[in-house]
Amino acid sequence: MAVELQKRSAYAVAQKRFDEAADVLGLSEDERRLLRDVKRELTVHFPVRHEDGSVHLYTGFRVHHNINRGPAKGGLRYSPDLTLDLVKALAMLMTWKCAVVRIPFGGAKGGVVVDPRALTRGELEHVTRRYATEIALLLGPERDIPAPDLGTTPEVMAWIMDTMSMHAGHSVTASVTGKPVDVGGSEGRQEAAGRGVTYLTLEALKYLQVTEQPATVAVQGFGQVGRSAARLLHEAGLMVVAVSDSRGGVYNPTGLDLDALEEHRRFRGQISGFKKADDISNAELLELPVTVLVPAAIEDQITEQNAPRIRARLITEAANAAVTPEADAILADRDVFLIPDILANSGGVIVSYFEWVQDLQEFFWEEEEINTKLHHLITRAFYEVLHTSVNRRLDMRRAAYVLAVQRVANATNVRGIYP
Ligand code: NAD
Repeated sequence: MAVELQKRSAYAVAQKRFDEAADVLGLSEDERRLLRDVKRELTVHFPVRHEDGSVHLYTGFRVHHNINRGPAKGGLRYSPDLTLDLVKALAMLMTWKCAVVRIPFGGAKGGVVVDPRALTRGELEHVTRRYATEIALLLGPERDIPAPDLGTTPEVMAWIMDTMSMHAGHSVTASVTGKPVDVGGSEGRQEAAGRGVTYLTLEALKYLQVTEQPATVAVQGFGQVGRSAARLLHEAGLMVVAVSDSRGGVYNPTGLDLDALEEHRRFRGQISGFKKADDISNAELLELPVTVLVPAAIEDQITEQNAPRIRARLITEAANAAVTPEADAILADRDVFLIPDILANSGGVIVSYFEWVQDLQEFFWEEEEINTKLHHLITRAFYEVLHTSVNRRLDMRRAAYVLAVQRVANATNVRGIYP
């Protein structure tokens, strides 16, 4: 089934979700045509010489879905499984994400078909600088501002910013976000997506009047988002009982010692084999009896196959498209509360927005100010989505889409059609 789902077009799924929102809003055929396709899609093929002297040809993408609310914004993914279809789907998701939290960006996504772990650091830098040069015709602080995503890091962002700056002849720090603080990055950006996941989870537990003490959490994916979410949820008083990476996970129903686990991961390069917990598979992690499930890895993890067996009360969908449309329906029937991806992981793009604003102003804020502003924007969005969900009798995902699509449709209508 997982294989079948992979073959299904991610873009078709994204369009289906859009169509549902367009139906609720009663958008006209013209409005639908303008919003359900991407604005531009660039595919580049470029050579990179590896350290052994061999030349390899790489493929990269950069897609803009809609830029009527502001410059294009979205992450860069380095993955051997990357396709144009997936990039288009993720670019569309970015448009709705920026709209649902009311930040003035349009949606974009990009990346390179590559396994970054198979390259040396020097090769990765060459792939990155050449890819940035190939897509540079789209980039710029007023036009398109990339950020990290799966398989990319603050260092990769620094190389892109430096490449853009070399071309311009001066530093253009606002050309990417998610950079190290030393080169114009923002305090709090590294853990922003995980912090947003935490704020939203706490708000939802309050709304759901969950009284379990402590509420338990399982996190799938122990990368940039999953790690900070696990740590911050633990700091907020929840008990993290399971985490995983691509090789498998660990489970301890009495709570994981996250510091010891980090130590083990540093030493072993993986989560599995941690002595103070039992090894489990990723599939088992998703079905654990926990209060909160945070899928923070990749797409299509909760499907019609395993949705009937999910035992969490709340799912905070940190990874984009982790839950399929079929699973959405099953979870809604079973009264599992879902914070949908476009809201759940929006902390990343919110603090990216703050980083861009700080770079443009060349005036930097303290982390406390950033976290306070993040909390304000994301909590406001949570209650706007929740009210829409309750008032219009829609599940949380449909409610988030309805709000977002309405805002983008309004911007598109008010701008009119050039010429
Ligand atoms: P990352 O590369 O830092 O970490 C990904 C984690 O998932 C790793 O632990 C990896 O081992 C694990 N993983 C990969 N394939 C897996 C599989 N098949 N099963 C289980 N685990 C697997 O990536 P990230 O930046 O943390 O991104 C994770 C998700 O969050 C993605 O969907 C991304 O689009 C989304 N997201 C990230 C950000 C951000 O700021 N980094 C912002 C918004 C959304």
